[in-house]
Order: sequence, then C-alpha cells, then structure tokens
Amino acid sequence: MSELLSTTDIARATLHRLTELELSPTPANYSRFYYEIAGEPPPDCPLQTEQAAGSCAHLVQILRSVLESVTDQTAGLASHLREHNREMRQSIDELALTQEKEAVLQLLGSIVTKANSIHSTVEDSHEDLLATKLALEHVKAELQETRQMLYEDALTGAQNRRAMDAVLAREVARSRRTGSRLTVAMIDIDHFKDVNDKYGHDAGDKLLLHLTMVVRSVLREADVLVRYGGEEFLLVLPDADVRGAEFVLDRLKLVVQKSPLQYEKKNIQITFSGGIAQLLRDENGHSLIMRADAAMYDAKRAGRNCFRVAR
Ligand code: GH3
Ligand code: MG
Ligand code: MG
Repeated sequence: MSELLSTTDIARATLHRLTELELSPTPANYSRFYYEIAGEPPPDCPLQTEQAAGSCAHLVQILRSVLESVTDQTAGLASHLREHNREMRQSIDELALTQEKEAVLQLLGSIVTKANSIHSTVEDSHEDLLATKLALEHVKAELQETRQMLYEDALTGAQNRRAMDAVLAREVARSRRTGSRLTVAMIDIDHFKDVNDKYGHDAGDKLLLHLTMVVRSVLREADVLVRYGGEEFLLVLPDADVRGAEFVLDRLKLVVQKSPLQYEKKNIQITFSGGIAQLLRDENGHSLIMRADAAMYDAKRAGRNCFRVAR
C-alpha cells in the first residue's frame, strides 16, 4: 500500500475516479481502481460463493469509505459555513459602526464576496453529496444482488442450504418463544433420473424450475422453499401443524398432476414423495429435518407418489 495515502484516502480517490468516469461503484470497478491507486496487485479471483462473500466484504469496504466521505463532506461543510458565518457577522458588525461611504462600499463588497463563497461551498457540497447518494444507491443494489448470490439456489431461485440454516434457527426460536407450531415437509421427485435420461439434462433443469414455481403457488407468504439437494426440496411451514402440512402436500400433488412441464411439445409428468415432521418440544432444526427426510424415505419405500408423517 502507498505509504503516503491512508485506506480512506485511497477509497475516496477511488470513488472520485469512478464518479469522473461515470462508472458505478460495483465491486469489480471499485477493486480495479482501488488497487490501481493503491499501487498494489489485486487479489486472485475466488469461486462463486467465495466471490459472493468476498464481494460482500468489499461492499462493506465501499460502504465504509462512502460513509466516511459523507462524514468528511458534512463536517467540512459545517466548518466552512461556521467560518464564513463568523466573517460575515464581523463585516455586518463593522458595517453598523461605519459611516464613511468608501468604507461602507468596501464592506459591502466583502460581504458580497463572502456570500458568493458560501454559495459555491454549498453548491460544491451539494454536488459531492449527490455523487455520494448515487454511490450509496449502487452499493444498496449490489448488496441486494450479493445477498441473492449467497442465499439463493442459482438454478431455481429457491433458498439454498445456507439460507435454510438461518431460516430454521429463526423459526425454531420463534416457535419456542411464542409457542406457535412449526412443521416442515421434505419432497423428492420420483424417478427424476429417468427424466434426465429420457429428455436430457436441460429438460431436467427446466422441470426443477417448473416445480419450484408450482410449489410456490401453493405456499403462503411466510412459508419458505429450500432446494435441499438435487431434486429434493424442503418446505418450511411456520404456524402449521401436521394436518396443515398434509393439506399443502395434497394441494401440491393435485397442482403438479394438473400442470406437467411442456418441453419441446411434449408433456413431462412427474410425481413426488414427501415426509412431514412437526417440531417437538426441545427439538432442534437439524433433528426436525432428519425426521422429515426419514419419513420421505418411508414414502419412497411404500411405493412413491405418496407422503408419510414422521414418528
Ligand atoms: P427416486 O424416486 O428414488 O428419488 O429416484 P430418482 O431418480 O429421483 O433419484 P436418484 O437419486 O436416483 O437420482 C436423482 C437424479 O437427479 C440424478 C441426478 O442426475 C439428478 N439431478 C440432481 N441435480 C440435478 C440438476 O440440477 N439438474 C438435473 N437436470 N438433474 C439433476
Ligand atoms: Mg428422486
Ligand atoms: Mg433425491
């Protein structure tokens, strides 16, 4: 790192450079100029989730530097205005004591200069703050995207396992705190391998996305859909008991039956097997899913296209 420039100086210079070039402060743009200005080689590019985590750290860095720049700007503005105000006050006081025309004109001239100077200070700060506001809006959008990369399954848009851990921890805690019920359902497509073998992997991918949309259509807003494995999904159903979950899976079975995937003018029909488990007193999220998974395998053993409730 440059010995003359602090991290904040480099961050600020980076933001200014991006604004000059009318580039948005995305992690990629930010890194490029940050390391160029710092005179350091950029770190190696990591893989997808690491990249998301890496860009998250980077966004935090951007956010910090943007906020530091706002603080500096507003502090600078306040100190400028205080100084200008003091000088202006002094000129006005002098004006009250002066009778001579020449001196009055001179004081008026200096008051007008100071007023202009205040005006341009405010104008400059206004522009700086507008640029900062723009930068913050970009950071917000980037954070949203990074969040999606971290918590969503790329193929289906369902929540991923990382998100599931957080959702379960939250819902188990809520259920304990409020005494509300919590039930999960594990579903797994029957003979999905045959779909891939018969229609191709692309058809299989489209089917997973299709199923995701179908499942969403039967869920309530507070329910969460997780892609648990390849063709295995977990439905987290807050405020639902076993009967509620059975109702959801019955409806899902019906909708899946009625809406096959249309792929290259063919209808691809599937069925699924499911396992339901309701949170027991003192049970944790992991054990809840394990029971739902075991119940789902019971359904497979019972011949598929059905569901079972965990013991
Ligand atoms: P079962 O009824 O016992 O569940 O049979 P199955 O064929 O569904 O299960 P199996 O575990 O034998 O095969 C699962 C298949 O899912 C194999 C794998 O290639 C496929 N699969 C997993 N993830 C994806 C994916 O993202 N896209 C596609 N197209 N296929 C996938
Ligand atoms: Mg399967
Ligand atoms: Mg499976």
